[in-house]
Amino acid sequence: MPGWECAIGDCAATYDDVTDLLAHQVEGHGRHECRVCNAVVPEGFFAIAHAFDAHTRADYVRAYDADADDIRVREDVKGAVEDAVDVAAVRERLDLDAREDGTGEAVEADEADDTDGVVDTDGTNDADDTDGTDGVTDA
Ligand SMILES: [Zn+2]
Ligand SMILES: [Zn+2]
Repeated sequence: MPGWECAIGDCAATYDDVTDLLAHQVEGHGRHECRVCNAVVPEGFFAIAHAFDAHTRADYVRAYDADADDIRVREDVKGAVEDAVDVAAVRERLDLDAREDGTGEAVEADEADDTDGVVDTDGTNDADDTDGTDGVTDA
C-alpha cells in the first residue's frame, strides 16, 4: 500500500490511513459548492462522493464540463476509498451530517432536536412529582 495522497490543489499530503486523509480534507481544506445543486460539501473525496451519489453522470458532465476520463478517475478514487473504509462511519465521526446545513441531511438535525426534548422530559421535576412522589412520602 503506497498510502493515500490528498489530491486537492497541490497539497499532496499523504496518510497511511484513509480515515486520516478524509479527516484532513474536511478539517484542512475549504468547502466546495456543488455546481449541480449548490449543496456545500467538503472538498476532496466528499465532494466527489456527493457529485456521483446525488447526481447523474450526465448532470456532472454538464455542470463541471467533465469528460469520460474525468469521471473514470473520480469513480476510481471514490470506489477505492469506499472499499477501504466505512464512509458512513467516517461521516459520523467527522460530524459531517450536522455540518451540511441546507441539504437533505438537515432532516437528521431535526431528529437530534427531538432527542434533546426526550432527555429534558426525563429530568423535569413536574414529571417526578406526578410519578408517585406523594405515594412514597405518604408511606
Ligand atoms: Zn490536503
Ligand atoms: Zn449536488
